[in-house]
Amino acid sequence: MKLLEYEAKSLLQGRGIPTPLQGGVVRRLQDITPALKRAGKGPWVLKAQVLAGGRGKAGGVKIVKSPAEAKVALKGLLGLKLKTHQTGGAALTIREVLVESAAKIEKEFYFSIVVDRREGMAAVIVSSQGGVEIESTAQESPEAILKLSFDPDAGLPDFKARRLGFFLGLSVDRIPAFVSFAKSCAKLFCELDLSLLEVNPLALTPKGLAALDAKVVLDDNALYRHADYQKKADPEASAAEREAKKAGLSYIGLDGDIGCLVNGAGLAMATMDTIALAGGRPANFLDVGGSADEKRVIEAFRIILRDSKVRGILVNIFGGIVKCDMIAAGLLKAMARVKLKIPLVVRLEGTNVEEAKKMLSNSGLGLVPADGLWDAAKKIVELAKGS
Ligand code: ADP
Ligand code: MG
Repeated sequence: MKLLEYEAKSLLQGRGIPTPLQGGVVRRLQDITPALKRAGKGPWVLKAQVLAGGRGKAGGVKIVKSPAEAKVALKGLLGLKLKTHQTGGAALTIREVLVESAAKIEKEFYFSIVVDRREGMAAVIVSSQGGVEIESTAQESPEAILKLSFDPDAGLPDFKARRLGFFLGLSVDRIPAFVSFAKSCAKLFCELDLSLLEVNPLALTPKGLAALDAKVVLDDNALYRHADYQKKADPEASAAEREAKKAGLSYIGLDGDIGCLVNGAGLAMATMDTIALAGGRPANFLDVGGSADEKRVIEAFRIILRDSKVRGILVNIFGGIVKCDMIAAGLLKAMARVKLKIPLVVRLEGTNVEEAKKMLSNSGLGLVPADGLWDAAKKIVELAKGS
């Protein structure tokens, strides 16, 4: 789950990391005056709070010198649909604008902490070419980037932090401040189980280093360890994804038309691949979990059917811990409730599969049984075409 810039900045401030003086977030024109007051004597910066970077280039960051200018800029921003190189063609409506004091920028640096999967560590990435997209720097001048991994259990050691600071070309008198900044960020990254902490730009100003932008991505799999975030709704999640989360199901909506109801993430991935191989496109990833019971199956059906693109459903269950006859009972109950108008192909394998198959074929509900995954995929792709 991504956090907005102002939420990310408040985490940084909580750790003593310098940011520009904050005037707060405004959602209505009339709230601008007190916000400007809180952010000092100006000039100020008005920043669109949307979950994407590249706002500066797209016109979502405005520097203003007077309250009158601020009002005009705010009027232009609120309600504006912002498209940046990170929104993937979509436009995000600006509903919140952060007001902060404008920093006098001497130099902009790039700073981030990521999970280094290859090393099994956390890693700090810095570049002296800050402000711009790190992706293009990585392609055009990779020598301008330094990446150093560190053990999250031990934290970022001073010597690595110093090496990063010197790589950025900071003068000796700036190094202690940079070390303290980098170490605080590393601590925040590890303690909150982040998958990304990015400060771009980290600016050198006459007052020292300051985080002018901040991006935080929380690891959804670790949310249960953070009570504050557990209850926070992910603004990027669809209604179906939110409902699924509440029901304890792993569901991700996709843009195809074949709904999948599967137990186990690996089997769900294999099912999606096999549907694609058979010429179809999955409408979702859905893992009902290893211990799928009747209630979860009913809930899963409801969530799949919320998506009006779905033209057929493939149920692929391996009865290892869960018994196939219990899944069959859940399917029958769900079908009795939802009155399915689209084809349903069922592939069951494992414990009590014979009983399950009998239950389904005796139901008279028009389910299509399949022998094996390949058969199931071919059948659902064919049936969905005609539905
Ligand atoms: P994005 O990464 O989405 O484009 P940023 O917050 O990085 O948004 O802002 C873009 C640029 O605007 C920054 O690189 C910086 O030059 C400038 N900027 C942002 N915040 C401030 C600030 N408080 N003071 C001065 N300049 C700022
Ligand atoms: Mg930025």
